[in-house]
Amino acid sequence: MVNNIVVAIDGYSSCGKSTLAKALAKKLHFIYVDSGAMYRAVTLYFLRNNTDLKNHDLIVDALEHIDLNFHSRDYESHILLNGEEVSEEIRQMPVSENVSLIASIKEVRKAMVRKQQKMGKSKNMIMDGRDIGTTVFPDAQVKLFMTADPKIRAERRYNELIAKGENVSLEEIFDNLAHRDFLDTTREESPLVRAEDAIILDNTNLTQEEQLAFAIEQVKPFIV
Ligand code: C5P
Repeated sequence: MVNNIVVAIDGYSSCGKSTLAKALAKKLHFIYVDSGAMYRAVTLYFLRNNTDLKNHDLIVDALEHIDLNFHSRDYESHILLNGEEVSEEIRQMPVSENVSLIASIKEVRKAMVRKQQKMGKSKNMIMDGRDIGTTVFPDAQVKLFMTADPKIRAERRYNELIAKGENVSLEEIFDNLAHRDFLDTTREESPLVRAEDAIILDNTNLTQEEQLAFAIEQVKPFIV
């Protein structure tokens, strides 16, 4: 098999990017990297340390003290923030409410993009996020841009959080997704936008199996 194939999956919040990315990684035996988890972990660090987000020097200094690592178990991506497993905590509302603001900070993006590019140097990899096909891996062999009806997205995320025992309302989730999409698409630094060569995948009416089959078709030409 050819080495160093990158599949970039970008799109709006809660479109099922990570579900598809994980399933695809499992099927193809590729590495899966959840770039959103990195922005979430940085956000958690800043929240815990009450970092003043207007202080440029403080942010640059803080970024030097943030060590992020992934460890993969059954294609689930677990993230370690300075050695501590934070995979659960980064999905909770305080992080969701602040992450897009922090992800719009230029220094934060530069540091994350550098780390992400390093990870993709010598491996077959699937990375999902907002700027993977445009900024992180503009030469990725396969680029998917995922979208779905906002109401459906909110319901999916709501059901996920309720199943985990979180105390949230559907309205709160809907508003959070809309707010994050707004910040992600309008920020100055690598905003969420479809790469010209990305294939659109609207999964409003698609099952997970159908999405996986579609994605495999796109990758197939590069692995046979
Ligand atoms: O993918 P997820 O929804 O967990 O990402 C959380 C947030 O991190 C997004 O709303 C976005 O603001 C930011 N993000 C980003 N660039 C990426 C991945 C995530 O700006 N590549």
